[in-house]
Amino acid sequence: MNAESAAPLPNAAPTEACQLAERRWQAVTRRDPLADGEFVYAVSTTGVYCRPSCPSRAAKREHVTFFESSDLAVAAGYRPCKRCRPDAPSSRQKWTERVIAACRAIEQSASALTLDQLAQQAGMSAHHFQRRFKAVTGLSPKAFHKAVLARRVVASLQSAHTVTEAIYDAGFNSTGRFYENASALLGMSPDRYRKGGAGEHIRYAVESCTLGWVVIAATRQGICAIEFGDTAQTLASQVQARFPRAQFEPPDAEFTRWVARVIGYIEQPRGVLDLPLDLQGTVFQHRVWQALQAIPAGQTASYTEIAGRLGQPRAVRAVAHACASNPVAVAVPCHRAVRADGKLAGYRWGIARKAELLRRENED
Ligand SMILES: [Zn+2]
Repeated sequence: MNAESAAPLPNAAPTEACQLAERRWQAVTRRDPLADGEFVYAVSTTGVYCRPSCPSRAAKREHVTFFESSDLAVAAGYRPCKRCRPDAPSSRQKWTERVIAACRAIEQSASALTLDQLAQQAGMSAHHFQRRFKAVTGLSPKAFHKAVLARRVVASLQSAHTVTEAIYDAGFNSTGRFYENASALLGMSPDRYRKGGAGEHIRYAVESCTLGWVVIAATRQGICAIEFGDTAQTLASQVQARFPRAQFEPPDAEFTRWVARVIGYIEQPRGVLDLPLDLQGTVFQHRVWQALQAIPAGQTASYTEIAGRLGQPRAVRAVAHACASNPVAVAVPCHRAVRADGKLAGYRWGIARKAELLRRENED
């Protein structure tokens, strides 16, 4: 685990904690039902705690304390309000549970479930279900189903005798349909993905730069890894461990040019590093990586903004996680993703490198 995926939101610095409390107070004054389940607020003068949407008369700000959960408010000695029943599951928790049940149904079903079937099982209209599903998972039910199939194929490619067999095992009803989607889902064709990059031709170079060591690896389709590290040996063994069955080739002239471009960009990040990429990831990860590539050098965007640009404003954690899973430093500029308050948050290759990359981009 790295810092970004482990804890993008907690570990709040004092100013961030103040901003969070302020946002929560705003939600309480609006009686925002969407904030239910995110926190509760307790009132020191009454000893009672409430959901943000509680219809009772608003307390004074100086008497209000926020808690992450009902349990914490109880532990601090508060009683649940009898009007809003903050200790009972909220409607939001209830539909979140129904979406999770739908995810399980999709995962366990041998055939594709229709939107209507899923919505009916969840007791919601198709439109409402689609919206709730997207808010919880960050994906439409259809995209989620595709991702589930892709995971099954990845798992079965390791053991199946043929790729076709693996595809049928995974629930795709024709090989043609799978191949149409395969590159987007796997980041490489199923033949190439099979068995740790068997049949894959990989060139790589470990170079020293002013941010330490960097390994750059490429398939014949494009760059598949750019990673920083502190020793050349570790980086070389990481590449070999990631593609244990690949055939490693000596760098050719084209690859050497790519390496030079990457190193040049690290030292002086200007414009866009437009090299061919060959990335493995889910549909959602690819969408986040594309959104990162659209952030110009010298600018940043928060995880919240990126989630908004994807049309999935609640998928903030999933966005932070996709940023943290980026396999190609700089080429997919995940260092330009920051917290909502402008703080750097984590970086897969160390926060000092992130800060330095951003500093270089802002140099005249
Ligand atoms: Zn209440």
